Amino acid sequence: MQKEGFIEALVRPTVRALTPYSSARDEYDGQGNEMIFLDANENPFDSGVNRYPDPHQKSLKKEISRLRGVSPDQILLGNGSDEVLDLLFRVFCEPHSDSVITLPPTYGMYAVLAGINAVENVQIPLTPDFQPDVPGILNRADKHTKIIFLCSPNNPTGNSFEPSRVLSILEGFPGLVVIDEAYIDFSENGGFVPMLKNHPNLVVTQTFSKAFGLAGIRLGICFAAPEIITFLKRVKPPYNVNGLTQERAYTALSNLDKVTREIQEIKAGRTHLHNGLMRIPFVVEVFPTDANFVLVRVDDARLRYSQLMEKGIVVRDRSSQLGCANTLRFTVGTPEENSVLLNTLETLDT
Ligand SMILES: *Cc1c(COP(=O)(O)O)cnc(C)c1O
Repeated sequence: MQKEGFIEALVRPTVRALTPYSSARDEYDGQGNEMIFLDANENPFDSGVNRYPDPHQKSLKKEISRLRGVSPDQILLGNGSDEVLDLLFRVFCEPHSDSVITLPPTYGMYAVLAGINAVENVQIPLTPDFQPDVPGILNRADKHTKIIFLCSPNNPTGNSFEPSRVLSILEGFPGLVVIDEAYIDFSENGGFVPMLKNHPNLVVTQTFSKAFGLAGIRLGICFAAPEIITFLKRVKPPYNVNGLTQERAYTALSNLDKVTREIQEIKAGRTHLHNGLMRIPFVVEVFPTDANFVLVRVDDARLRYSQLMEKGIVVRDRSSQLGCANTLRFTVGTPEENSVLLNTLETLDT
């Protein structure tokens, strides 16, 4: 179990000593339309975006906190999950000395960010059924290991991790456990946000890029203990979430019916795609999925990939990933797109 003050002890000394930039708008808490703003050297003529955005994204966090059942001080927002993940590296991992653990095959950004931040990426492969190898992970973690990255549902495999395994990692590892839940809204499992209460070393990341249909606005979410959030805020650029993004996300949160409807439709499409793929002669295996994509093993991924490309269908060849030889990843599209994909696959030479 974690000792009092263990979060601060995990933070890089430079960040611990840092005084964050205080923006002009930090002193003004958002009330009062009668105010005259002569503090931030903005252009005074109203265009809808002539003012700096709220650096704390208060209205948006309030809605997200309501949706996910956490308090606003447990939320940090970033320019996509990619920024959130990068902030975690920059706050907790000392370049050239600390390490992280990742579990291939998984999302490529963890390895890229480790490289950018000069942090060793220790890879502990998933088991053959794509679950975390708990003893392998805990045995390999040492005093330099700051973060373990889990992705559930996992990209590119699509499966969720067994909660008991995640729990063993959370309880057996004295650093941070980050669970990337980019695909959580497509999953039948509830996700790990409710476990924040009892696990101060847990960090959950989510995104508006997938189920919410807002990949273009770049908005990522980090849920964690307030102490972790406070350190992340010290390092984030003050206006990292722009005003248009805050507006669009807020609007989406006030129209959740649309999101829910689309998730239902994508899940139905996933079932249709899954069943259809099983009937394609050159499909060797269709992996179970909790996400909005299906990983499929075929006879010859390179051949099938280029045949599909010729027919105007772009998919992802994941064959280079550990344990994913001859696999293609299909994102669930609209019902029409799914039918076109299946019809096209049926016509390919076997
Ligand atoms: C798509 C995806 C994301 C989303 O990243 P954004 O920067 O928020 O768009 C995060 N994690 C995983 C595993 C993903 O597949």
